[in-house]
Amino acid sequence: MAKKQFKAESKRLLDLMVNSIYTHKEIFLRELISNASDAEDKLAYKSLTDGSVDVKRKDLAITIVPDKEKRMLTVSDNGIGMSKEELESNLGTIARSGSGQFKAGLAEDDKAAGDIDVIGQFGVGFYSAFMVADSVTVISRAWGSDEAWMWQSDGADGYTMTPCEKDAPGTDILMHIKENGDGEDYDQYLETQKLRGLIKKYSDYIRYPIRMEVEDYRMKDKPADAPEDYKPEWETVKEWKTLNSMVPLWQRRKSEVEPEEYNAFYKEKFGDWQDPLAVIHTSAEGAVTYKAMLYIPAQTPYDFYTREYEKGLQLYSSGVLIMDKCADLLPDHFRFVKGVVDSADFSLNISREVLQHTRQLKVIAGALEKKIKSELLKTQKEDFEKYEKFWAAFGTQLKYGVANEYGAHKDVLQDLLLFWSSSEGKNTTLAAYKDRMPEGQPFCYYACGESVDKIAKLPQVERILDKGYEILYCTEDVDDFVMKALGELDGKQFKSVTEEDALPQSDEEKKQAEEKAEAGKPVLEAVKEALGDQVKEVRVSAILKSGACCLSADGPISLEMEKYMSKVEGGQHMKAQRVLELNPDSAPFAALKRAVDAGDKDTVAKYAKVLYGQALLLAGLPIDDPAEYTQLVCGLMV
Ligand code: ADP
Repeated sequence: MAKKQFKAESKRLLDLMVNSIYTHKEIFLRELISNASDAEDKLAYKSLTDGSVDVKRKDLAITIVPDKEKRMLTVSDNGIGMSKEELESNLGTIARSGSGQFKAGLAEDDKAAGDIDVIGQFGVGFYSAFMVADSVTVISRAWGSDEAWMWQSDGADGYTMTPCEKDAPGTDILMHIKENGDGEDYDQYLETQKLRGLIKKYSDYIRYPIRMEVEDYRMKDKPADAPEDYKPEWETVKEWKTLNSMVPLWQRRKSEVEPEEYNAFYKEKFGDWQDPLAVIHTSAEGAVTYKAMLYIPAQTPYDFYTREYEKGLQLYSSGVLIMDKCADLLPDHFRFVKGVVDSADFSLNISREVLQHTRQLKVIAGALEKKIKSELLKTQKEDFEKYEKFWAAFGTQLKYGVANEYGAHKDVLQDLLLFWSSSEGKNTTLAAYKDRMPEGQPFCYYACGESVDKIAKLPQVERILDKGYEILYCTEDVDDFVMKALGELDGKQFKSVTEEDALPQSDEEKKQAEEKAEAGKPVLEAVKEALGDQVKEVRVSAILKSGACCLSADGPISLEMEKYMSKVEGGQHMKAQRVLELNPDSAPFAALKRAVDAGDKDTVAKYAKVLYGQALLLAGLPIDDPAEYTQLVCGLMV
């Protein structure tokens, strides 16, 4: 019989499938089951609208039959079926198929091979059978017709059409499975266990039963006359089983799902051993229709801060898994969220355009971001202790979210942030900080350091606390960037306590400071000379109250940023311009002055080095030469 040729585009796609190096060949089963499910849908719909069609939904089913000896795998449905013309036009040409988006890639010739991952994301339908089979036969009888037709193809060189017999309407897809080779294990697609697993994984929520004959071990009934030392006996029984659970949890009404069910689903699906911190079960109808079930884990996943961690939500289309980790559904700052989104708008079988998907994904992602935020805010209000647990697990991620992309997401995240409050002695939100702020406080204050205790002892902190102002203690590397990204809180600027102008001075204070600076000039110059390029400047401090010295930075890079950048690859050259500040009212300053007046350069140099070392230590920075520093200090003692 003369072979008919595939249309050009179809042939390209077919070649791609036959020679596929794609690692997820297993998705062929999902594709065929999803086609079968659609065929059942169409028939069920017909029976609703056409009085002459009498089909009961409960009779509709999909069956899978593996045959190891013949290396055949058959997927059958009793759905709408295909006429001769439909077989030819549906399977002979790609134009109508859901693989439409592939066309773009195919046009660009060899680029398509690189884009092959698309298969895993949206599926390419029927042709994927050729990834695992060297010959495919489709026997179909359309509903309402007596004749059946057989479509047969070995792949590349076209297909044949032959009339045949078929008892009932519907479609059988018969695949002759390839021999193992090229490092591929095709045998597995004839194993009931493997097939069972694939159905569970990809097609669990198909709304028609997927049935297969499976072997089960069963304990034999105990005979009535069993002796006392009877040992139970086992037998193998073959029976037809429905392998999919058919109703996904997220399709059920919230009020009908028990908390334990939510938790069990989470643990099984996402491999966590702990209950989640929160569940968000939500749905929307309108521009885009979807149902979503999201989880916030209780603990930081062990690989959360590694490259291995992949963000994303499972994307389903009417119960069929189309993507395991759809990254576009989650913004980076909420990458810890796990869950499932199901939207019929992503139908596998309706012609799709990639662009349209992107738009829909954006709409859903936007709505989910709002949902996640409001759920977190609710927890923050109603159960602060629980919120602090969340914060301990994922707070850093939110802070990075604020600092990234020049603060593009700060408005979303600001309300979710927590900082340690100097006055409350515990975590506070920014809103609560603002509420407590006394009238006339010029800035929102923060101080960075290694730990709350260390920050509390910083010389620059003292003067702000003395004014009765509250300070946010920041103990993470990213904090300084967060504050810079936030910029202000309801119009009031964030200010590090280490900045010179953190407390605005009155004219009187300014005058006094200038006088002191003038009087201290010879000392400052002598110290600068002794320290050389290590510091950009030595100046009289407007900040210090009781301490003798501290370090501050001039220019755009703060000491905190320098510390942070020193740990980032390629960031080591980012250095703050260091300024040594001295307290002119302190005893060490007086001692320095005596040495300067006496022209004792040696002592001035020693004192200068000791003070600079102390300033570094207070700022949490390493001393360049610790041995020299200890010798100096010890020398001063004797
Ligand atoms: P898609 O399903 O994405 O449209 P396919 O290549 O998988 O693309 O299938 C092409 C067409 O063939 C389908 O749209 C459908 O009309 C028809 N078809 C495939 N499988 C079946 C089936 N089991 N029963 C009836 N029609 C089918």
